[in-house]
Amino acid sequence: MPGRNFLFVPGPTNIPERIRRAMDVPLEDHRAGDFPAFVLPLLEDLKKIFQTRDGHVFIFAASGTGGWEAAITNTLSPGDKVLQARFGQFSHLWAELCRRLGMQVELVETPWGEGVPLDRYAEILAADSAHAIKMVLVTHNETATGVTSDLAGVRRVLDDLGHPALLAVDGVSAIGSIDFRMDEWGVDLAVSGSQKGLMLPTGLGLVGASRKALDATQRARCPRSYFDFGDMLRMNADGWFPYTPAVTLLHGLRASIDMLLEEGLPQVFARHARYAEAVRKAVAAWALELCARDPKWYSNTVSAVVVPQGIDAGAVVGNAYRRYNLSLGGGLGEVAGKVFRIGHLGDLNELMILSALAGTEMALRDSGIGVEPGSGVGAASEFLRETCTA
Ligand SMILES: *Cc1c(COP(=O)(O)O)cnc(C)c1O
Repeated sequence: MPGRNFLFVPGPTNIPERIRRAMDVPLEDHRAGDFPAFVLPLLEDLKKIFQTRDGHVFIFAASGTGGWEAAITNTLSPGDKVLQARFGQFSHLWAELCRRLGMQVELVETPWGEGVPLDRYAEILAADSAHAIKMVLVTHNETATGVTSDLAGVRRVLDDLGHPALLAVDGVSAIGSIDFRMDEWGVDLAVSGSQKGLMLPTGLGLVGASRKALDATQRARCPRSYFDFGDMLRMNADGWFPYTPAVTLLHGLRASIDMLLEEGLPQVFARHARYAEAVRKAVAAWALELCARDPKWYSNTVSAVVVPQGIDAGAVVGNAYRRYNLSLGGGLGEVAGKVFRIGHLGDLNELMILSALAGTEMALRDSGIGVEPGSGVGAASEFLRETCTA
């Protein structure tokens, strides 16, 4: 098919040319004497993306899911209690991973379309005077429903109660796209992956760990080998890895960090917020609803759009891909067939957003949803024109 595929799933995302070129390098010796001169500044600058000074960010050859496993196995022991709210496929899967690793998961069932219920977390943690709960999990941005939770609020709940549980956050579809302040929000474990806001191929699982999380590794009895923080920390200290790192991806990561810091994190977050608002303007013009039930939950990296009763959201995704070479995200888990998702994170600009909305609009009509042609594109383009600061 001539022309490009329009990649608007919420990860993997578009890889900028600069990053692709940075990865077009011969393989090299990761034990060479000059390798640490590349690795040490990379590790230091990666911390800026996580907004941490005090923590360490681990880089594993893995995906985000490997990052989840590393965060859990390095800091907990089998039988430990963890608290997690389930409100989408990703919060579900992380809880499931904890269960498989032998944790006792206290699951707070939350409607899909809402985020972490701070009042429920507060009640449960207040009742836990013996501090049996060792970790509080938060899926910062639930990619399945397009919901962002109030991380600072969770921190406040823990602080107000003086509860010592570790705060572990899935930031896979948040870090590098929406505000994520690891130190300020007292996040002990921050998980990310390479193929979302970092605009890289899949293949890196990143885990930020606070001092408190690193201390917890001393007591944690979960078996771990490949993902052991201790081995990695000792080698990273001098710019090495305990085994062969994904060197090619590390060159991409170098370019990704440079691009994000050159644009400036506040500017990156503002760009994502503006494009997300443009998408929401289109959804409103189509008279469709978001899965996110209230503006306070709206995600700036992904919008899950609910299709009318009797329509299969999978048809919208199928038509978009087959007829217009536009990749949209399907519904996952409980919302399969009910929502489709527009990913709006990473390397994007105004006209890319508008092209995705145009293709979505056509696919909606193809699927029997009678939106007015041009209505969504019109609303979004006016918003983008009016808010353009150049
Ligand atoms: C994509 C994603 C994951 C899973 O990451 P993989 O890289 O596919 O393992 C986990 N959590 C969230 C919120 C995600 O968006």
